[in-house]
Amino acid sequence: MTLNFEKEKLVAELKERKPRKVLVQLAEGIKRDASEIASWVEEALPGTECIFSGETCWGACSVAVQEAQALNADLLVHFGHAQFIEVDFPILYMEVQDILDLNPILNKSLPLLENYKSIGLSYSIQHRHDIQKVIKFYENHGKKVTLSQKAGTNAYEGHITGCEYRGLKAIQDNVEAFVILGNQFHSMGATLALRKPVILIDVYNDDVRSMAGLKEKILKQRLFSIEKFKEARNIGIIVEIKPGQKFGNPIKLLEKMKNAGKNAIVITMSEITPDKIMNFYHIDAFVELACPRIALDDFAKYEKPILTMLEAMVAIGERSWDDVLENGIV
Ligand code: SF4
Repeated sequence: MTLNFEKEKLVAELKERKPRKVLVQLAEGIKRDASEIASWVEEALPGTECIFSGETCWGACSVAVQEAQALNADLLVHFGHAQFIEVDFPILYMEVQDILDLNPILNKSLPLLENYKSIGLSYSIQHRHDIQKVIKFYENHGKKVTLSQKAGTNAYEGHITGCEYRGLKAIQDNVEAFVILGNQFHSMGATLALRKPVILIDVYNDDVRSMAGLKEKILKQRLFSIEKFKEARNIGIIVEIKPGQKFGNPIKLLEKMKNAGKNAIVITMSEITPDKIMNFYHIDAFVELACPRIALDDFAKYEKPILTMLEAMVAIGERSWDDVLENGIV
């Protein structure tokens, strides 16, 4: 795998902005490149203080604005994600391109797509530079290709993140299946959000597969957690302090829980982990208003039921499960 960090862009931006102190934040998979990036900052602006955030960074939702402010930095450089939300702090987003020959894996995808003439296409950000070639490839093989719309927190047409599927839902009536160029995380979210078949092109494992079986398994588990939540008396509503992780209003939810006969409290965390949750031993079940994928993908790590906002609404009877199945669980 060859990554293009766009060093020239970084150097040009730094020379233009002339920060005195920079906080650099790297997505998890590229933290190993910190020392090299430090040398580029030094080369661009000798004497500029360059500090790396060691906090976890799973998505552009967790831009390290609070850290940057605490350090009195005047620029945050965020590598590995596109802009997700507007924040009142200077941020330079460096998206990072994955340089790959996609032709072999695109050829491999054709048998799985032979029953579909019209496909919806979405990509994770590191493949953005290749997307016109991908569209051309499928068109040359007789497919009609529609990029998912730019909607909500997606930065571009066709761009996918793990929690924003409105742009895919917007085109689902016009396509027979979706192709997700990226990894299992994004395609799993897509299959939970959509009614149409989802095919993953997993460039990291050189694999192409349908997500159908996994969807059934996860939905069955989610229904089980919702049923357990209904029996719970003491509820913890967890909010994270990351700027882009505000999936619901905790105070309104607290009211709803009380009206449903639950004894609920609101808990704040910098990041939800099983260890932190464990100490609230009197709580029977949780709702998390942070990343919805914590509840959906990581449920096995938690001893007690943990639901998303949407699932909590089902548990207290404000939404129906059929409605969730129709409109997607994310
Ligand atoms: S909230 Fe979760 S899915 Fe959404 S961008 Fe952040 S880490 Fe990814």
